[in-house]
Amino acid sequence: MSMLPPGSVLGIVGGGQLGRMSAIAAARLGYRAHILTTEADGPAAQVAHAVTLGAYDDHDALRRFADAVDVITFEFENISADGLDLLSSLRPVHPAGAILRISQDRIAEKSFMGEHGIPVAPWHAVESRADLDRAADVLGYPFILKTTRLGYDGKGQARIHSAADLDHAFDTLRPHPLVAEGMIRFACEVSVMVARNERGDVSTFDVTENRHRNGILDISLAPARISPDLAAQARDLARRIATALGLVGLLGVEMFVDHDGSLRVNEIAPRPHNSGHWTMNACPVDQFEMHVRAVTGLPLPPATRHSDAVMKNLIGPDDMALWPDIMATPHLLAHHYGKAEARPGRKMGHVNVIFPLGSLPGEFGVETALGPLATPVNPKDDAAGK
Ligand code: AMP
Repeated sequence: MSMLPPGSVLGIVGGGQLGRMSAIAAARLGYRAHILTTEADGPAAQVAHAVTLGAYDDHDALRRFADAVDVITFEFENISADGLDLLSSLRPVHPAGAILRISQDRIAEKSFMGEHGIPVAPWHAVESRADLDRAADVLGYPFILKTTRLGYDGKGQARIHSAADLDHAFDTLRPHPLVAEGMIRFACEVSVMVARNERGDVSTFDVTENRHRNGILDISLAPARISPDLAAQARDLARRIATALGLVGLLGVEMFVDHDGSLRVNEIAPRPHNSGHWTMNACPVDQFEMHVRAVTGLPLPPATRHSDAVMKNLIGPDDMALWPDIMATPHLLAHHYGKAEARPGRKMGHVNVIFPLGSLPGEFGVETALGPLATPVNPKDDAAGK
């Protein structure tokens, strides 16, 4: 694909905050964002050039959407295979449907990683109750049982501590098949955002260190506090995955740093990723612009970083009650998603704090920098919280 000229229309499937921030980046480059969404006044629709309202499996809506745009991308992965096929028959779709199908299905994802020599946690596919007994034998206790599809933010999974947990987990997790994964005693969780365009240019952002709370990303630190050698390995894994997939677009790669210092890929998301939001204030070209550049055929600049950064998600009514305090704290660089209702657990926005290169503070400094949003940053808390 040659470079799309300014004025062209970028179709984005999905109307949430990732679509909103992609649409803003697209506008900065002279493109118009057209959103396919079920929410007329959702985060992306509020900032877009145009909106097609409709369900992601409504073929009539998908056709109207495709007719109105020049190229199509996604802000979430859970569109039906049928819908994807239809869109792909009408317009260029980046990333390609085949990549979404891999990322939508944990078994396909792990099989792909295995075929390309990418390390993952030991795993076992579970279709029947007998498979689950076999998985327990092979993996040993404790292990994690996950749905293969439609899991996010720690939903759709159970920790299996002993044989007494097997029946309940097998009966309640839906849909089947499931996947059983050996429990990784990780030192920390990291992620890498990688972009690739049709010419095969690849840019990887610096490695991010991620802390979760109640199964939801809470804080990201950039750069991750791991050795330069391990950081180079993490970026190399992301680059290898993007190349093996033939990615055109942006991909978030989540990894565990195992206690022995090795990396294991947990999952991939072929779209901008919550753990890449720090790039909005710490990089000349952030993940959203990189996404737009990759899917519109523009050159990819190197993903350089001018600052160290801490990102904190604003979740639900408790964090949003602090909005006036956040606004009154100049070093909190705030991003509001425009959602009307702050339900518990809902991602409402995020703040970034940036520091001169090389001066990311330690635990106490991070807390201090977050001011009104400070909560003790303790890696042991989040491991126990899940
Ligand atoms: P996921 O839905 O796969 O992203 O998992 C959500 C969270 O559960 C991860 O961020 C980890 O903290 C934890 N987790 C998932 N899989 C494993 C595993 N195999 N070993 C240890 N922790 C895990």
